[in-house]
Amino acid sequence: MTADVLPSYLAGAWSRGSGAGTEVRDAVTGETVCAVSAEGLDLEAAVGHARSLGWSELQKLTFPARAAAVKSAAAALQARKGELYELSARAGATRRDAAVDVDGGIGTAMVFASLARKELPDSVVIAEDEPVMLGRQGTFAGRHVLTTPRGIALQINAFNFPIWGMLEKLAPALIAGVPTIVKPATPTAYLAEHAVRIIIESGALPEGALQLVSGSIPGLFDLLGGQDQIGFTGSAQTAARLRADAAVTRRSARFNAEADSLNCSILGPDATPGTAEFELFVDALVTEMTVKAGQKCTAIRRALVPADRLRDVAEAVSAKLASVVVGAPGADGVTMGALVGLSQRDDVRAAYARLVAAGSAVFGDPDKVDVHGAEAELGAFISPLLVRVDDVDRSEPHEVEAFGPVSTLLPYSGAEQAIALAARGEGSLAGSVVTHDPDFARDVVLGMAAYHGRILVLDRDSAAESTGHGTPLPQLVHGGPGRAGGGEEEGGLRAVRAHLQRTAVQGSPAVLAAVLGLPQS
Ligand code: NAP
Repeated sequence: MTADVLPSYLAGAWSRGSGAGTEVRDAVTGETVCAVSAEGLDLEAAVGHARSLGWSELQKLTFPARAAAVKSAAAALQARKGELYELSARAGATRRDAAVDVDGGIGTAMVFASLARKELPDSVVIAEDEPVMLGRQGTFAGRHVLTTPRGIALQINAFNFPIWGMLEKLAPALIAGVPTIVKPATPTAYLAEHAVRIIIESGALPEGALQLVSGSIPGLFDLLGGQDQIGFTGSAQTAARLRADAAVTRRSARFNAEADSLNCSILGPDATPGTAEFELFVDALVTEMTVKAGQKCTAIRRALVPADRLRDVAEAVSAKLASVVVGAPGADGVTMGALVGLSQRDDVRAAYARLVAAGSAVFGDPDKVDVHGAEAELGAFISPLLVRVDDVDRSEPHEVEAFGPVSTLLPYSGAEQAIALAARGEGSLAGSVVTHDPDFARDVVLGMAAYHGRILVLDRDSAAESTGHGTPLPQLVHGGPGRAGGGEEEGGLRAVRAHLQRTAVQGSPAVLAAVLGLPQS
């Protein structure tokens, strides 16, 4: 029996691609969920629909009105989030994992809506700064204004956060007035499709503001140019390929990439066994390895530990990993679900093999795991895997991203070496330093800031309120230099402004006031 092709939402209607498509299977049972195909769909019409109807409908709304629409869309998802939880389990996500994606995504959209309603003008144009007087008589001035480009946002998302990844891009784009086409990753496209369906059914958004392509998008980049923006999340390899397209290199479509990274967490020299910081470090590492079965771009891949403490950390982390219960989401006692699919598990095993060849295995067997509530051979289950690499000059721990419950322990001596090792990741999304020594914290934060989009300093004072190493927040920048993609998302209203065109307008003060719709004194 051939699977039903997942619908796309284009030019105001649901339609299905032709052909058999790519089959997507349940991560736990191996049953077919759907097929994904965009073959034969009219993407040119979709782009036209966004540019004409979507753009003009959004321009009828001021920033706060668009924020209100985003808030209603988020509220519609909130009201039906149980459906998204249920579907998330098919992708191997436990309830805790689904909360990160579903509640995290809804919360992010709500925060953007709230910031925009409070802080952006009731207008379609923003004055970015005060006028700069350019003449002695005060008759000629300049001011930077932000307006909506006459284009669309294409968002291309990774499989691991189908809801959060979509909403964290969608909210700022729509508030900026930019109509959006969403292209989810194939393995979890059915989750994005359901979320889009809920939003469309709610009627929260103006017509043409949101479209969905379930499937691949050959030819779509050919339709994009200087007024358009592409927001990509996924592997560094795909980012490099897309960034080289003529839409970006010749026609200057804006391209923002959030790629993979070899994030590190550094245990401070002061954090000996028995201190609060030692426990916090161990807990954070286990959490980052097991939430979403380690399929998180911000997860701790490299745990840097003072050389004389490697064994203590290895033992403490192994003891906690031994109590992780792998199995079907929702089954009794299960604390870690499955990877998204069998081919993802093959990739994780291959990456693990490269890491372990550079050092030694500390915990877990990539080919053996006790599975609760499901048949081990049908689902994409894998044990948490901890590796130790004593030769820190080896390239593997700094280059190989095993996108699963895998982390590597690395020894260091002194702040300088910790900073140098952090930098070997060549740019990361998130780093953390677990220490109660402010001088060590300062040295390390300043030393590694250039390589990081976000750094958490964790200690006994902030632990209770800390949001953790791996959690991007809508108020703070998410992104990272170099290998992490060189992009920037979130960061409060920076994300909205990033979608707008900045223009320096020059003229008399009265003209500048008129442009901004301000009273002309
Ligand atoms: P991926 O294979 O690079 O795919 C990412 C997206 O690109 C998917 O939607 C994919 O579609 C699409 N794509 C692939 N080739 C394309 C092409 N030629 N034209 C247009 N679109 C194309 O990554 P993934 O396996 O989904 O995600 C895992 C990776 O993402 C990990 O490396 C992880 O670190 C990274 N990640 C980063 C962040 C971040 O915020 N920085 C967040 C999450 C994940 P198909 O699925 O249909 O091929």
